[in-house]
Amino acid sequence: MSSASYKSPANGKAITVNAGTLQVPYHPIIPFIEGDGIGPDIWAAARPVLDAAVRLAYDDDRGLAWMEVLAGTKAKAQTGELLPQATIDAFGTYRVGIKGPLTTPIGSGFRSLNVAIRRALDLFACVRPVRWLPGVPSPLRRPEKVDMVVFRENTEDIYAGIEFAEGSDANAAFQTWLESTLPTEFAKIRFPRTAAFSIKPISREGTERLVRAAINYALTNGRKRVTLVHKGNIMKATEGAFARWGYALAEGEFNSQVIPASETDRGGEGKVLIDDVITDAAFERALTRPESFDVIATMNLNGDYLSDALTAQVGGLGIAPGANINTDSQVAVFESTHGTAPTLAGTNKANPCSLILSGQMMLAHLGWHEAADLVERGIMAAVKAGQVTFDFQRLMPEANRLSTTDFGQAVIDQMESF
Ligand code: NAD
Repeated sequence: MSSASYKSPANGKAITVNAGTLQVPYHPIIPFIEGDGIGPDIWAAARPVLDAAVRLAYDDDRGLAWMEVLAGTKAKAQTGELLPQATIDAFGTYRVGIKGPLTTPIGSGFRSLNVAIRRALDLFACVRPVRWLPGVPSPLRRPEKVDMVVFRENTEDIYAGIEFAEGSDANAAFQTWLESTLPTEFAKIRFPRTAAFSIKPISREGTERLVRAAINYALTNGRKRVTLVHKGNIMKATEGAFARWGYALAEGEFNSQVIPASETDRGGEGKVLIDDVITDAAFERALTRPESFDVIATMNLNGDYLSDALTAQVGGLGIAPGANINTDSQVAVFESTHGTAPTLAGTNKANPCSLILSGQMMLAHLGWHEAADLVERGIMAAVKAGQVTFDFQRLMPEANRLSTTDFGQAVIDQMESF
C-alpha cells in the first residue's frame, strides 16, 4: 500500500482566484469523492446528469474535468489511510469539489471524516438551501412557501466541543476548578459529583465571518432577510453573543445595505432586513410561517437540528443538497446532506437527488447558471412525470418506482427534451 497521489486530468485546468473572485476555466478540474455506502450508487447517477447538463448548455465548449480523490473505505483499502493528506490538498488546490457521504469510523482518531475535511480546509459555512420543488411529496399543506438557505457555522460550538466524562480525572480537575472559581454557579448543579460537562466555544471572529457570508449571500442573491437563530435567552454569553456580534457586524460592515427589522419605520426600502429568533420559536415558525424565513445564520448545533428538520418539509434527506465553504479562501466542497444509508448500499435504490442538487449548487457556484437551471428543471420534470425513486414513490402511489441510475437517466431524458 502506498500513500495517495493524484494525477490531474490532462484535459482540465485549475480554478484560480483573482481579487477574491473565482476564475473558472472552460474545463475546470473538479476533485470528487465517491463516498461510502450508497455513495457509489448515487454518484453513478449524478455524474452523468451533471455532464449532460453542461453538454446541453454549452455543447463541447465546456466540460467538467473530474478527478477522483479518495476518502473513507476506498481510501483505506487503496492507501491504508482513511483520509489521505493528498485528498485535502487536492480540494485546497482546485478550490471546488464534490463528495458523497462517508461512514464515520468507529474507534479511530477521527470523530467524523466529514468533520475532519471541514476542519482541515476551514470550511466555516455549511450552506443548505431548503426549497420545495413542485411535485415532490411534502407533509406541508403549502410547501411552496418554503424557500430558505441555512448558513450553519461549521468550526465552533459542538464541532470544537470539549467534554469531561463522568468519573474521569479531567472531570475531577474541572470540578475542582469550577467549585473554587465560580462557587455560585457550581452550587446550582443539582448532582455535581455525577455530572458530566461539555464546553462549547463560540467566538466573535467565528460569528462574524459566518454572518458576513450570510449577508453577502443575501445581497448577491436578491434575498430580503437574514435571521440570526440562537438560544441567547438562556446561553447569554455564547448564543446571546452570537446575536449581538451578528447585529454589530451587520451595522458596522453593511450599514447602508442592511437594516434591523425592528427599525424599518425609519425606512428600509431595498435593504436586507436583519432580525433574530430564539431557536425553539424558529422550529415553530418554520412550520407555521415558513415564508417568514429567507436566509438563516446560526451556530453548529442549532443549524444541524434545524436544517435536517427543514429538509423534512420539502422531501426529506434524499433530496437535500449542501455545501461547505470558506468564503475567504474560496474553497468549497459540495455534498449530499444525508449519510451512507448502509441498508441501501449497493442496491441501486437510493434517491440520487441530494447529490445531483449538490452538483447543481456547484454549477451555480461556478457561474454556469444555464447548466444549473437545466438540472433543476430536469429533476422537476422527472418527478412531475411520476418517475421517482422508492422514497418518493412511497408517498406518490401513482408514480413509477425507478432505480437510482434509471432516475438519473430520466432526468437526462427530460433535459434533452427541453
Ligand atoms: P443516513 O442519512 O445514512 O440515513 C438516515 C435515513 O435516511 C435512513 O433511513 C436512510 O435509508 C435514509 N436515506 C439517506 N439517504 C437516502 C437517499 N439518498 N435515498 C433514500 N433514503 C435515504 O444517516 P445514519 O443512518 O444516521 O448514518 C449512516 C452513516 O452515515 C453513519 O456512519 C454516519 O456517521 C454517516 N453520515 C455521514 C454524513 C456525511 O457524509 N455528510 C452525514 C450523516 C451521517
